[in-house]
Amino acid sequence: MGGRKSENGNGNKKSKEITVTFKVKDVILIAAIAAAVIFFLLWLVPQLGGEGQTEDDLEDPATEESQPAAAPTVLDFSAEDMDVSGVDIAGKKIIIDAGHGGDDPGSIVAASGKTEKEINLEIAQKLQAILEEGGADVIMTRETDAALGPTKEEDFVAREKIIATSNADMFVSIHQNEYENAEANGPQTFFVAQGSVGKRLAVAIMDMLNYELAIDTPRMAIPAAYRILKTGSQPSCTVECGFLSNPEEGAALQTDEYQQEMAQAIADGIKLYVKRFE
Ligand SMILES: [Zn+2]
Repeated sequence: MGGRKSENGNGNKKSKEITVTFKVKDVILIAAIAAAVIFFLLWLVPQLGGEGQTEDDLEDPATEESQPAAAPTVLDFSAEDMDVSGVDIAGKKIIIDAGHGGDDPGSIVAASGKTEKEINLEIAQKLQAILEEGGADVIMTRETDAALGPTKEEDFVAREKIIATSNADMFVSIHQNEYENAEANGPQTFFVAQGSVGKRLAVAIMDMLNYELAIDTPRMAIPAAYRILKTGSQPSCTVECGFLSNPEEGAALQTDEYQQEMAQAIADGIKLYVKRFE
């Protein structure tokens, strides 16, 4: 009896194992099919968007991609590097691009706040003043509220022409971010591709922003396929100064005081780039 019991026991166990094996196989099969479908959709969506530049290229980098926030405050530079007081930028030709303008307001702050295009220009002009005081030759893509063309495409082409014909030492585009999660905050810089000359500039400005503004949730400079950063051979980066969708930061970004601190940190980031990489 003992033997039979044991045999039965084994038999049951075996059939259970078979059942379990089938279930696991089913799960693996379903997961594989689901993964294949997801990969296909991920492949399909960009194909549908076409090969040319889409509106995404004109939009702000307020994507999930910009969300990984945690990073060391100073990634690549020593404490000594961060002292840029003696750095000479005289004669450096620097293009400052205030994003949006005219009929394109960029992000719109809730309530009675300023639009992104206004804040971009205000910070860009403060940055211009600081750099010119240091003897830099600053080229502004726009100095008024007006866009550079009647359509977004023409506006873009006009900005690209300025970059292409300026033979500048660097290009910095000023924007403000937004995100569905109102808690997202902090400045972030973007460069066009890993290994590009823009990466060093983006990292230098990023680290100086985190350092001088004492950002409590520092972000990292990350690559993004922005059309404006692809023109010319100079290092180019976009600075998203902060999130207008964050009530506290959005309010700060509209004040002269924080804009001045922001402009100073961007200027010092440019000096850090010059100090370390030129
Ligand atoms: Zn923008």
